[in-house]
Amino acid sequence: MSTTNIRIEQTQQSRLNAVDFDNLVFGKILSDHMLVAEYSNGTWNEVSIVPYGDISISPSMSALHYGQSIFEGIKAYKLNDGRVSIFRPDKNWERFNKSAARLQMPEVPKEIFLDGLKQLLAVDQNWVPNKDGASLYIRPFMFATEAALGVHPSDSYKFIIITGPVGAYYSKPISLKVETHYTRAADGGVGFSKNAGNYALALYPTELAHKEGYDQVMWTDARDHKYIEEAGTANLLFRIGDTIITPHGDTILHGVTRRTIIELADAWGLKTEQRKVSVEELIQGIESGQVTEAFAAGTAATITHISKIGYEGKNYELPAVETREFSNKVFQYLNDLRYGKIEDPYGWNF
Ligand code: PMP
Repeated sequence: MSTTNIRIEQTQQSRLNAVDFDNLVFGKILSDHMLVAEYSNGTWNEVSIVPYGDISISPSMSALHYGQSIFEGIKAYKLNDGRVSIFRPDKNWERFNKSAARLQMPEVPKEIFLDGLKQLLAVDQNWVPNKDGASLYIRPFMFATEAALGVHPSDSYKFIIITGPVGAYYSKPISLKVETHYTRAADGGVGFSKNAGNYALALYPTELAHKEGYDQVMWTDARDHKYIEEAGTANLLFRIGDTIITPHGDTILHGVTRRTIIELADAWGLKTEQRKVSVEELIQGIESGQVTEAFAAGTAATITHISKIGYEGKNYELPAVETREFSNKVFQYLNDLRYGKIEDPYGWNF
């Protein structure tokens, strides 16, 4: 399918003028248009860009009952020269199709995901905020639409991209509770995929962590709860001695931000390791002073410093944020790169 096959229906009434770009609440304001593609009879057809609005679904639609539903999160930025840039969307496209394969859903071709996104942003380019720290959040998602009960792969799917402006997200340092009872993902499961169920299952343990005074859960392995996985909706990275270390494996979502940070650390000549990290190694490292930085990495905030870790009833404090050389430098570098303030030597701005 070529991009010329995308039908565009412009809105008759833009909502842009009513948007208060100084007071954006994440996820509440959606841009004028959305891309919608339909899959049936083994093929993608009917790709269109239409005014954002409600869609009609059947009560027996299989995504509602059996959970074939996946998504992505990407950001676009207004560059210094006025052009719009999307940060590494090819990586999200690859991850999306890995999620699709694991949930027995069809892959979405590049022509629909990436070229379609480009066309959508061309239509809604004025929705990309022109302000440092602000961006356009992009949410591609796909769900099963077959109107029939019974557990089997759906015979039809909808792929949709919606977008919306979001303000600067300077997140405060967070505290994490090491989760030693509930589990996010097990070996052989769906931890590496960005499916809706992975987020639903996290709500209850996260609420318990909130009640205990922590901001987020630090997930650990399903078998022994000894090895660190990830936190909330972000990956975890640590600086232990002179090495940047991040947990690895199929039970975590392989973040684009995490990957980008590891690539930068490598390019800057730091030692990096993607491997199992035990809670014990982390706690001992905090106590001995070897752990000098700990942060969560994800599209939403890029980097969120971790201030405190709670484990088996005891709290462990991390060094002051101002002393964290690597994570502060990465944050600044990625911020500058995304807004086109510095060269883009890696070709990450699409
Ligand atoms: N882990 C989970 C569970 C997430 O939801 C996210 C956000 N997509 C991440 C990690 C970070 O991934 P990325 O850097 O691609 O946003």
